Amino acid sequence: MIYTCYEMVRDCRDRLPEGWMHFISHYVPVVRQALAHYAPGRAGDRALLDHILVTVHKPESFMFQSTEPPEERWFVAQLRQLMVAELAAPAAEISIGLETLTAALEPLTMTEKQAAWFETMRYSAAQAGPMLRVSPETVEKVRDRAAELIRGQVDSWRRTLLAENGPALGREAAAVATHDCLPTKAFLDVVDGRTTWRDREMMDRHLRTCWHCVDHFCRMLEVVHLLRGSQPLSEAESEPFRTLLGVAAPKRTGWKRLIGRA
Ligand SMILES: [Zn+2]
Repeated sequence: MIYTCYEMVRDCRDRLPEGWMHFISHYVPVVRQALAHYAPGRAGDRALLDHILVTVHKPESFMFQSTEPPEERWFVAQLRQLMVAELAAPAAEISIGLETLTAALEPLTMTEKQAAWFETMRYSAAQAGPMLRVSPETVEKVRDRAAELIRGQVDSWRRTLLAENGPALGREAAAVATHDCLPTKAFLDVVDGRTTWRDREMMDRHLRTCWHCVDHFCRMLEVVHLLRGSQPLSEAESEPFRTLLGVAAPKRTGWKRLIGRA
């Protein structure tokens, strides 16, 4: 029995316990994993996690704003954006903007730009390689080249510049969409192998000059990575979050009880 993201959002909107139970068991682990990545020092910060869940639970939540039937990966991408926005990142000591990156990294291809961009998202070469379907050594090589190119554009530089500027660059990239920018579906089609060579070529060309789409594509690859590494919570593990959101205890009837006993 498949319970889709569309059904979950519908049931959450109707304030049905099934919807919120599904949200808690499937997406609390994803938020935790993303927190551990972006704010390792706050990975166990229960107040922060609770705050994020309460925000999603509110009637004005992003969850209920979608004009299209929500897809799981879109949902997780939104959840990740909300979580990152809640982390008050310190300003980078040496600040660089997209304009500098555009000038410095002009010679890089789409995939090379993504390899560099994943550094702003704090992913190591070993993590970014599989997401981009290239070897970690290739990512490392591209990053060394990108570092040298950036170094040539700025007055002061250090190797951690991209990671330190990550939150600000992410915000800037998210804000600069153009009318040629691609929808989430275009990136998911690449992930799912449903894209044509022609589409792929157009995408390559657009992403060479568009950080908004480089960021968007990287975040969709990140979502796939987060979902792959996440295990749903058990009913007992979900309990504190159910209490937090005031969700009624699930009825132990029918197939759910049978599965519970297995
Ligand atoms: Zn774009």
